[in-house]
Amino acid sequence: MKQATVTAYAKINLVLDVLRKRDDGYHEVAMVMQAIDLADTIVLEEAQRNWLITDNKHVPPNMNNLAMRAVTLMQQYFHQVPPLQVTLQKRIPVAAGLAGGSTDCAGVMLGINQLYHLGLGLSDLERLGAELGSDIPFCMGGPTALATGRGEKIEPLPACPDLFFVLVKPSFGVSTPKVYGNLRVAELREHPDVNRCIRGLEEKNAGQVLRSMGNLLEHSTFELQPDVKKLKDSMIACGCPHVLMSGSGPTVFAAFEEEAQAQQYYRTVSKQYPGAIFARTVNQNLLEERVALYGTHGKEISTN
Ligand code: ATP
Repeated sequence: MKQATVTAYAKINLVLDVLRKRDDGYHEVAMVMQAIDLADTIVLEEAQRNWLITDNKHVPPNMNNLAMRAVTLMQQYFHQVPPLQVTLQKRIPVAAGLAGGSTDCAGVMLGINQLYHLGLGLSDLERLGAELGSDIPFCMGGPTALATGRGEKIEPLPACPDLFFVLVKPSFGVSTPKVYGNLRVAELREHPDVNRCIRGLEEKNAGQVLRSMGNLLEHSTFELQPDVKKLKDSMIACGCPHVLMSGSGPTVFAAFEEEAQAQQYYRTVSKQYPGAIFARTVNQNLLEERVALYGTHGKEISTN
C-alpha cells in the first residue's frame, strides 16, 4: 500500500488590489501572492472508504473539508484513484486569510497526482483546482505569482528575495463574502501599486517590495472589525513600518528583510500576542520537495 506525505504551504498577499465588481458578482482582483513556510502536513493512505482524520476541531469534518472535496474530485475524473484516508495536521490558522483550506485542497490533488502517476501538469492541476476555489490554483505552484481574474488566473513572478514575517491571527474570524460585500471600490481613490511590487521583484529589491505592500480590502475589514485596525496599529507601534492584513483578514503580518530583526520583533510581539507565528518566504526548492512518496514499510518508492 502506497502513501504520500504533502507539505501544504500558507500564502500571504504582498499586494491585494480590487479593480472592480464584475457582472457575475465576483470582484476583479490583482494580487501578488507569496507562499510562506507556515504549513499543514497531509498524509494520504489507501483505505476502505474516504475518511478524514484531523487534530483541528475548527475545520469542517469529513467530506465537507476541502481536503476531502479534492479527493472526491480526483476520483470523479480518475477512476484509478481508490478510497483514501487523509490525515491532516493543521498548523495554518483557520479562516485567517492565509488560504489554509485552499492549500490543503491543492496539496491533496498534488499528492494524488504523484501517487497514481496521473501525469497532470501544473496548468491541468490549476484548472482542476479552480473548480473548488479561487485561491487553489496559486496553492498548486507559487511560490511567488500574480493572481488576476477572481484570483484563479496565475502568472509566475520572479522569486521574491528572502523575507521574514511575524503573523498575528486574532481569535475572531471575518467572513470573506462580507468583506467583499462591504467594499465600495468606486469610492476608493488610492489603490496599492501592483506593478511597483513586480518591478521590485524583477530587480530583487527587497526594500521596494516591502514599500509597495498594500491591501485594498483593509478599508472594508477595518470597518467591519475595528479590532483588526487596532491590531495593525499596535504591530506598527512594536517597531515595524511594513505591516499589512493578509487576504480579507483578520491575520495581520509584519515583514522584514533581515532575519535577526524579525526574530527580535517576534520576541517583542509574542509578549503581547502569545500566538504570534514566525515565518519566511518559501523558495522553489522547498516547493519541489513538498510531496514525499512511501511504500508499505516506509521505504521510498519511485516517482517515475
Ligand atoms: P482564503 O485566504 O483562501 O480566503 P482563509 O485562510 O481565509 O482562506 P480557510 O482557513 O481556508 O480561510 O477557511 C475558510 C473556510 O474553509 C472556513 O469556513 C473553513 O471551515 C473551511 N475549510 C474547509 N476545509 C478546510 C481546511 N482543510 N482547512 C481550513 N479550513 C477549511
